[in-house]
Amino acid sequence: MGTGPEAYFDSLFETDPAWERISAAIRERDMPDISVERGYGRLLTMLVAATGARAVLEIGALAGYSGICLSRGLPPGEGMLTSLELKAEYAELASAQLREEGFGDRSEMIVGPAADSLARLEREGRRFDFFFIDADKEGYPLYLEYAIRLANPRAVIAADNTLLRGRTLNAEKMGPAVQAVRDFNRTIARDPRLTGAHLPAYDGLALAMIK
Ligand code: SAM
Repeated sequence: MGTGPEAYFDSLFETDPAWERISAAIRERDMPDISVERGYGRLLTMLVAATGARAVLEIGALAGYSGICLSRGLPPGEGMLTSLELKAEYAELASAQLREEGFGDRSEMIVGPAADSLARLEREGRRFDFFFIDADKEGYPLYLEYAIRLANPRAVIAADNTLLRGRTLNAEKMGPAVQAVRDFNRTIARDPRLTGAHLPAYDGLALAMIK
């Protein structure tokens, strides 16, 4: 266990068997260990439950931990998680983890670049109550625009990594991911269609609600 504030707060809670299982699967497959923190996952569960969301869209599935946390906030036996993932092998693992957790019949995985999957969802007239954006950072501005277009009234949008480990704040950093996240962060703050908030917790968490 680490020694930072996240590790301290996590130590107060029961361990999460899904977290343990997914961390082991990530290690076995030599995948990047970049699932949301457990405390962040608890917050996602609470946000989905508190907003009464039934249709949840996640962009970036990895091994399924955030998907499980989002699904835990759905009403018992109801609702649906739609998850977009670029890599087929990650999507397969995330689906297996969601099944293992009892969410198999209430989750769907769409494999491919999120920009294509979002365009397809728009063509199909799909609408969502809650969005979690956690994929390639260059795509954040586009994913936010799609989230706004695919949103039911009063839908909530959450996004991870808005600080990029401090790079967002560092004026010397001008790479495409940093510029895209700065653009995204300004839109959360200023877009007239949104009520936005930025939390400097974890690696930065953005929250917005459709007006
Ligand atoms: N949300 C996951 C969790 O907390 O359990 C972690 C997601 S990880 C930070 C980012 C994921 O986005 C990776 O699985 C990666 O393959 C996926 N990704 C990257 N670029 C993508 C794209 N263009 N379209 C869809 N998924 C993408």
